[in-house]
Amino acid sequence: MALVNSKITLDELQGLASFWTEGGDAISVYYKAPEPSELAHREEPLFAKEQIKQKLGALKGSSQPDRADVQRIVETISDLKGNGGRAKVIFACKSKGIWREFDAPGDFGCRIDMGSNFTLAPLIAQQQGRRRYCVALADRNRARLLLLEAREIAEHSQILDEDDKEKIRTTGTSKSAHLERKKEEQTRKHFSFLAEHLLHFHEHKDYDSLLVGCREEMWPAIEAELHPELKRILVGHFNCDPGMAAREEIQKKAQALVDGKDREDEQRLMERTMSGFASNALGAVGIHEVIDALEKGEVRTLLWTSKPDGQQHSASLCENCGHLEAQELKACTLCGAKMRLYQNAEEALLRHALGRSIEVREMHYTKLPMPDRIAAWLRFRAEMSTPQALAS
Ligand SMILES: [Zn+2]
Repeated sequence: MALVNSKITLDELQGLASFWTEGGDAISVYYKAPEPSELAHREEPLFAKEQIKQKLGALKGSSQPDRADVQRIVETISDLKGNGGRAKVIFACKSKGIWREFDAPGDFGCRIDMGSNFTLAPLIAQQQGRRRYCVALADRNRARLLLLEAREIAEHSQILDEDDKEKIRTTGTSKSAHLERKKEEQTRKHFSFLAEHLLHFHEHKDYDSLLVGCREEMWPAIEAELHPELKRILVGHFNCDPGMAAREEIQKKAQALVDGKDREDEQRLMERTMSGFASNALGAVGIHEVIDALEKGEVRTLLWTSKPDGQQHSASLCENCGHLEAQELKACTLCGAKMRLYQNAEEALLRHALGRSIEVREMHYTKLPMPDRIAAWLRFRAEMSTPQALAS
């Protein structure tokens, strides 16, 4: 039986990245299974499954050895019912005896490719960009902590709900100014205690970014207790009743804030890169410029927009030294070894970037310029430090 994993190690990724078959029969599938409830009254997920089957049908004729893989893929995705909200990712190559199947959290849409290499760009971008969000729900006497990661949410812990609650409840019966002040002080202490815990968890790398859910009138008092570091990693706050809110409601509101932040970040990255490119500074746009920058070690973040079939730009990568070329080449101009042609340029660029501490980012909200939709934000420009560049 196949082993289905949800976490892919760097070793596995590198193994998949270095895989190559001259037969061109390596199949990559990204498939988001519909929720069982969606099957009843929504047609779109079914359409996605049909699309995959059709595409697999078209592939069937092109290569003999993949027939068994095609059958197994169709069976695998046909059996899926919701898949716990996770995407099914399959890398298969019958002729080389490879079948890797993952249940990956996150949203990859639906795609299928066949060629000499596996399609790893969506997976690598998702894994690298994955952040852990602490969702802290707080009211006067309670706090709940949840962890949101790759669109999945889990209750983390319930803290601070015994002693404080009692004290505050007893003060609630009196109207005297003294007790009101005492109540406010108790609430402040409670939020301060919560903020200390949040800082502690963040310092221990339990999460990367923070979201707060509370009743709107409580927000100023909570915000006032947040340490500057917590304010720095704060994505935002949303309105909810911490005691009553169901997990689905929390997830929906928190995810909307996270998506908004992602969109903003992407926009900013795009503007930085484009203005850097326009002023011949820290931006590279287009495959030739980006390859040049990668080989000079200038790239901080590699950016691409996924392109539909037929609009892809290819690139070659040397299997020995990692040298890149924007066109098809038989032998590496640097070391003479064999060059591999990747139909999707970003697949070649990514393999060059793997293990070189270069960030990668697939742009989901903004489209990079045509024709190849590839760009990079740079750490520095090598030629800017030469006397010639300084003189210009
Ligand atoms: Zn080479």
